[in-house]
Amino acid sequence: MDASFEAELDQVINHVLVLTEEQTQRETVASVASEARPAEPVTGAVTKAEAPTPAPPAPPPPKAAAEWQQLPTVAVAPMSEKNPENLSVCKAHPEAPAFYCQTDSTAACSVCESRFHEGHLIFYGEAGKMLIRQSLRNKLKALRSFRKGERLLYSRYGERQAIIKKQRSRCESNITLAFQAFHSYLQCEEEKMLKCVEEEANRLTWAASQKRDTLHSSVLSCDKAIESVTEQIVEGWQLNDSALHISPPEQLVCPDLFLNEAHYLGNLRYRVWNDLGKITVFTSIILDPNTAATCVKVSPDLLSVSYLRNSSSEPLPQRIEWAPGVLASRAINPHDTLRFAVDVGDHEKFEIGFISAKASRKGPRPNSAQLFLLSRHGSHFLWNGDKKSAFVPREKADCITILYDGLRKMLSFTDRKSGFQLHVCSTKHITDQLFPFLAADESLKSQTKRIRLVTD
Ligand SMILES: [Zn+2]
Ligand SMILES: [Zn+2]
Repeated sequence: MDASFEAELDQVINHVLVLTEEQTQRETVASVASEARPAEPVTGAVTKAEAPTPAPPAPPPPKAAAEWQQLPTVAVAPMSEKNPENLSVCKAHPEAPAFYCQTDSTAACSVCESRFHEGHLIFYGEAGKMLIRQSLRNKLKALRSFRKGERLLYSRYGERQAIIKKQRSRCESNITLAFQAFHSYLQCEEEKMLKCVEEEANRLTWAASQKRDTLHSSVLSCDKAIESVTEQIVEGWQLNDSALHISPPEQLVCPDLFLNEAHYLGNLRYRVWNDLGKITVFTSIILDPNTAATCVKVSPDLLSVSYLRNSSSEPLPQRIEWAPGVLASRAINPHDTLRFAVDVGDHEKFEIGFISAKASRKGPRPNSAQLFLLSRHGSHFLWNGDKKSAFVPREKADCITILYDGLRKMLSFTDRKSGFQLHVCSTKHITDQLFPFLAADESLKSQTKRIRLVTD
């Protein structure tokens, strides 16, 4: 069979529906015509068939039609139509009347299955047929509801595939960016070092050549003096005083005029590796972009967050909805200790701190008992913890250290530069896991547009 899963499922449902309806009509007519005749033996109390009220088969959603064609084909067993009046439930005995077992809530063939239902509440004849039809209708209803669920899941997994594709491409380009930064830094460092060696070598070579020029003149003047003295000896002249004033030769070794290879090559790899620390940051927490509100942007290195007016983020279920914020990638336990620092600059509207892992990410803002945040709105700081209060700090901190001390049961916010404690509170009542949280609202008047995790 080459039809799609969707078409086959519809076919099965329609088939069951048609059979059930036809059967009901036929039996209603038959029962009216043979009212005078004695009824078939019935063991159950139900004797009158209910009017069928089946819903029309649900049409497949038009936009998903093409997608359904891609589903694997499922073989469907053909329905028995040989003797619809008997409502046969058995392939081997299509002529045998079926009965309905109320105890097991199932229809069964009277030839092969009677022995399995001894002592059960059994319905034969009209009552049996009616119950079988009813059970078919119930199955139909369950099947439709199952199909609805499967369709929904199918489309959700499709959406997920598209999101994963986007995430992969973003992740790959960020990895490439990070390595490009290293590559260009290393290339720059290599060129700088080679330049130093070249300049040093040129300086030494020039100094050596200056020295050689001087020595060359000296050798020439020595030659002249030797010639002159030799002539005087040969011709027996008196020695000229000037010829005797010859300074002693300079020392033969010039220790300064060598390239200091050890200076350039000593622990070279270690020094390069160590210097890489200048362009890297280590932070005790990192941000999880999958939790970021759709109105914020998390930087490629997952260290900063900024407000974004026009969002193009995928609708992920983990995202925060009630604030322009983002969670850290992992939560801490109430007895843990964690310290991190955030560079907030002159940003006007931010929130930093912790939220309970149980706090809802969707809908309205959770209650204050689940939020442990330091907020700045303009020049004011607000604390939303077990109690809410407003205060004005002595000075506007541009870098704040947050310390959650699980041993001493304290949470503190400190100005990193001055060491001034902005706020401190007890965390004795905290029993849930906590997620570090950063939020940055729109901040038009400030220079700082993003708040950033820094090395503490
Ligand atoms: Zn049978
Ligand atoms: Zn039974």
